[in-house]
Amino acid sequence: MERLNFDTQIFIGENSLDEIKNYSNERICIVTDKFMVESKLVDYVTDNINDTNEYHVYTDVVPDPTVDNVVGGVADLSQFNPSVLIAFGGGSAIDAAKAMKLFGTKLGLAADISLVVVPTTSGTGSEVTNFSVITNPKNNLKYPLVNELLQPDKAILDARLVKSVPPHIVADTGMDVLTHALEAYVSTSANVFSDALAEKAIDLIFTYLERSFSNSEDSEAREQVHYASCIAGIAFNQASLGMCHGIAHTVGGKLHMPHGRINGILLPSVVQYNANESDVALERYAKIANRQGFSTSKGKVGVRTLVNEIMSLRQKLKMPASFAEAGFTKDDLAEHGETISQEALVDPTTATNPVQPTAADVKRLLTP
Ligand code: NAD
Repeated sequence: MERLNFDTQIFIGENSLDEIKNYSNERICIVTDKFMVESKLVDYVTDNINDTNEYHVYTDVVPDPTVDNVVGGVADLSQFNPSVLIAFGGGSAIDAAKAMKLFGTKLGLAADISLVVVPTTSGTGSEVTNFSVITNPKNNLKYPLVNELLQPDKAILDARLVKSVPPHIVADTGMDVLTHALEAYVSTSANVFSDALAEKAIDLIFTYLERSFSNSEDSEAREQVHYASCIAGIAFNQASLGMCHGIAHTVGGKLHMPHGRINGILLPSVVQYNANESDVALERYAKIANRQGFSTSKGKVGVRTLVNEIMSLRQKLKMPASFAEAGFTKDDLAEHGETISQEALVDPTTATNPVQPTAADVKRLLTP
């Protein structure tokens, strides 16, 4: 028997932030970053908190949230003693809040905290997953925690919040969505439910991501990509991910590039590698190429068209096609190559890749 969890309640559309109005007599801690406060975007949340509640804003989160963010957050949580945590921001703020809840609960500092997530980027799907990716900058280690306590209780998707996201972040985060969906689709833990969600997320990305990138006023495109992010999140919460994420986590800990940009560099080569090594993956990628109308071939030719379309999308999004184009030298990669390949093999997301790579395979994919 397999148990499928769809545990997070999801509120979508304009007025979905009204859900926050329903909290009364609570102690609410909003976890976010400084930009969200300075840009006043956080008012979308605070304006909906009614006067019966007390609230407090924790703003120390940095991109790729650190162990210190979590430790500081847990200390803050222990002082303020919230009953509700509202994570407001991109994946970084969300993951910091999730880890705060996990350690706060495990350490007996907080009990029965309700976790509400309001994403302001369209990428990680963290609002519906039981993952939280935390970085230790002292040893350059970035690691995904996976635990049921990390599963948010509520996700609120209001696409007005992503209107201000600049094009380069739309590109990075959108490529993250495509990677989530494709990795969930070929995962060894994929099932018919995760397949349905992954297919839809891929449809939405190929239809709307470029529009969302080129025009922030295109509210339909921004909204559909926001939903695609969440849908892909539900897919990979069922099926987990694959080696593109396994490598991207460890590269991100060392080279400090945006997570989605790393995925964008690696994804075409990982798709090609998986298709070369696994007939199941080959057939599945070809199915996606057929579904998108890229090719009618059910074999290698179909996969090649998918790889080409991913590269073409990446180019339209003005994303780097290699680590060299992203500003890193051969030496940067050589310095960390050995550690990256070893860490990528033990990253939990690599476990469900359709092929178990060797360290040499990972190193080959890391060519500058
Ligand atoms: P992010 O959260 O680091 O945000 C990137 C930048 O965008 C920040 O400077 C932020 O202030 C800014 N920003 C956020 N919302 C904005 C808005 N509405 N307008 C303008 N600027 C805005 O980036 P991200 O890609 O959302 O998250 C990346 C993190 O999430 C990484 O650490 C990655 O490893 C992790 N991740 C987690 C999961 C998961 O399931 N938990 C999945 C994938 C990635």
